[in-house]
Amino acid sequence: MGTIQALRGTRDILPEEVVYWQWVESVARDILSRSAYQEIRTPIFEATALFERGIGEATDIVGKEMYTFMSRGEDKYSITLRPEGTAGAVRSYIQNGMHAQGGVQRLWYTGPMFRYERPQAGRQRQFHQIGVEVLGSSDARADAEVIAIATDILQTLGLQNLRLDINSVGNPTDRQQYRQALIDYFTPYSSELDADSQTRLTRNPLRILDSKDKRTQEIAQNAPSILDYLGVDSKQHFDQVLQLLTDLGISYQLNPRLVRGLDYYTHTAFEIISDDLGAQATVCGGGRYDGLVAELGGPDTPAVGWAIGLERLTILLQKMQQAPKKTLDFYVVSRGEKAEAQALLLAQKLRRIGFSLELDLSGSAFKKQFARADKSGAVACLILGDEEAENQTVKLKWMATKEQQTLSQKDLLGKTDEWRRQIDMLKTQ
Ligand code: ATP
Ligand code: MG
Repeated sequence: MGTIQALRGTRDILPEEVVYWQWVESVARDILSRSAYQEIRTPIFEATALFERGIGEATDIVGKEMYTFMSRGEDKYSITLRPEGTAGAVRSYIQNGMHAQGGVQRLWYTGPMFRYERPQAGRQRQFHQIGVEVLGSSDARADAEVIAIATDILQTLGLQNLRLDINSVGNPTDRQQYRQALIDYFTPYSSELDADSQTRLTRNPLRILDSKDKRTQEIAQNAPSILDYLGVDSKQHFDQVLQLLTDLGISYQLNPRLVRGLDYYTHTAFEIISDDLGAQATVCGGGRYDGLVAELGGPDTPAVGWAIGLERLTILLQKMQQAPKKTLDFYVVSRGEKAEAQALLLAQKLRRIGFSLELDLSGSAFKKQFARADKSGAVACLILGDEEAENQTVKLKWMATKEQQTLSQKDLLGKTDEWRRQIDMLKTQ
């Protein structure tokens, strides 16, 4: 019998890689909480109808990517593993009466999402997103704020070669006219379009612009631009967003073919794209969805948000070898019965007063333990042998200089601030 492997399109995130994930999460958490965004955690599975209504039947996600199954038991109903986070967040917003609190709600979430796709680099069946939703504001500043926050997160992580593509998909009235223009444009080419786009021609022609088929993309190059179909209000909103981005020093590229082709998506649509990712280049996708809350049974509520794909982000960070700094203060080595027992005790006390450390449990020769101390990334090594155990002392060796000193365990535990200062100084070097 063979061993059981992780399923196609899923993967383990091993400890060496998890450090990148934790780094991204802590940077995002920090920036979001300083911007008054509150975390929300919604279930990983929801009623299938939520996504059918919330994402739209004519989309790839609902059409062919959802993991859907029947619940067990008597009252069978259809369940779907969430393919994205917005529908669940909006369901929760309505269900929990957050709209009744008035004002603007700023939410963020992170977690796994599930889509049945052909796995490749940066495209998996279980993948992860961090996302934000701002509910209750139609102000162009809300659009600009969410874009600025995404930019801040990516910049703080040190990412380069990113570009912001932006477009407006207008309001439903603008789109109605644009829709007809697209049908008129694409119909003569209909036999050359990919199969999906052919069915979209009547159902949702905007989505043809989103096709990944090469010939369809070529044809779409000369399609009419939505920007020529925006009404006065839509144009004004879009101009404001662009002006605010300019004021914020965020450069962008207009991309009239960037669409989120659903009825409840309105106005701003944007993507942050990396030149370093190959085919799966979009790191962040977002936009305004003024119609969604109402579509899901809530009151008319304007909203805007985005989602960042964490696999693609961590691939970029690893490519840049932009590793988070190691943070271990001490590596503790010991040998001999008494010393080993004391080392455990000392480690526990040091942890309790706020130091980070790794205790070597091997019991092997000092030489081997020192080699591991070197690899651990710790700032200093603490050494306990028979002599130290006897005298209640400890040897402290600074890893960078190999300088060594012997001090009483009491001094080590007592002069916390002094050690902290020295270690932090060395960490920043
Ligand atoms: P794509 O065009 O690449 O399929 P999408 O439009 O389906 O992307 P969104 O639904 O906008 O993607 O999701 C936001 C982000 O989540 C994407 O920009 C991407 O970074 C990430 N993402 C989406 N699907 C996957 C996946 N299957 N595997 C890994 N990351 C994904
Ligand atoms: Mg997709």
